[in-house]
Amino acid sequence: MIYHPYGTTGLQLSAIGFGGMRFLDQKDVEGCAALVKKAHDLGITYFDTAIGYGDSEAIFGAAFREMKKQRRERPFYVSTKTNKATAGEIRRELETSLKRMGLDYVDFYHVWCVMDKDSYLKRKLKGALQAFEQLQREGLIRHICVSSHQTGVEIEWMLQDYPFAGILLGYSVMNYAYRDQGISAAARLGRGVVIMNPLGGGIIPQHPQRFDFVRTREEETVVQGALRFLLNDARITTALVGFSSEAQLEEAIAAAEGFAGLNAEAVEGIRSHLSTSFDELCTGCGYCDHCPVGVPVPKMMDSYNQFMLSGRPESIAERLGWHWGIGRKSPVYDLCTECGQCEEACTQKLPIRARLREIREHVQKGRK
Ligand code: SF4
Ligand code: SF4
Repeated sequence: MIYHPYGTTGLQLSAIGFGGMRFLDQKDVEGCAALVKKAHDLGITYFDTAIGYGDSEAIFGAAFREMKKQRRERPFYVSTKTNKATAGEIRRELETSLKRMGLDYVDFYHVWCVMDKDSYLKRKLKGALQAFEQLQREGLIRHICVSSHQTGVEIEWMLQDYPFAGILLGYSVMNYAYRDQGISAAARLGRGVVIMNPLGGGIIPQHPQRFDFVRTREEETVVQGALRFLLNDARITTALVGFSSEAQLEEAIAAAEGFAGLNAEAVEGIRSHLSTSFDELCTGCGYCDHCPVGVPVPKMMDSYNQFMLSGRPESIAERLGWHWGIGRKSPVYDLCTECGQCEEACTQKLPIRARLREIREHVQKGRK
């Protein structure tokens, strides 16, 4: 395993982290906890969960109770999250998380799932950040962090607004352009950067031929290629993988074992591939993000990407709902006046208007 600094905290975290939302069977607490302990034995030191991931915190707790016995010699770091906004609610959620995990404190406590500037400002106005600071003074949390699905520009603004110790955000070879500016800003400002969804939410391993371009060595898998693309990025501390099995764990860890970096040519080869062989996909560059009536075009096109790669029309509404917080009943589906401005700006020359019509059709089918 290799270890990277987390911002300016002085901590070194494993370059591969354990994301706790993809356990195979959460009812099998013992089996899942064994996977967590195995990950720690293999060098993983960053464990990420959330109060809303079902029984994930309890599973981690079962593993941590064992791991704590040697925590001084073999450290590990715990991340969890709350999307609550008021001091009382945040304290209650943290206390629940600590109890479930059998811990006295959490290393990284996240303002969870900031979808846009508005949702950040609302929580800030309700006192969420002061509540976090109070919990930090009491020693119940070590570092105040944020997890976000915003664009790179919005992330940069938010990190300048508040000195979060680090940020957790979705990033992969599929959407690097969309968040690149935010990652650069985090690195420049000395914040830790933890990546979720480094495998495009499972799309990359499910389409190994399509993503073959991420492999820079004959013997590596697409999973390892996609992870090494991130491990190679000096701005990134840790890439979280949601493990379901020992085989997945070993495959990801092998990507970090003895990894000495990619040469510039290999990195450029991967980056440029998205604009050649993937010319029907939105790259998330954001050039179209100035719709006069407020259609969030990059978010809509990102969700259409999921459909193109998975072939499942339902994946559009799933992505819009779960990742972008745009429900089926949102008014955004009916806003487009077909003025064509976004298509003129599009670096991929995508048929955005036709895709928006298609998205509306698919989403409306599932409306109740
Ligand atoms: S075509 Fe539709 S989505 Fe594109 S800029 Fe015009 S109104 Fe916005
Ligand atoms: S300009 Fe085109 S490629 Fe870039 S985010 Fe918009 S739709 Fe995607």
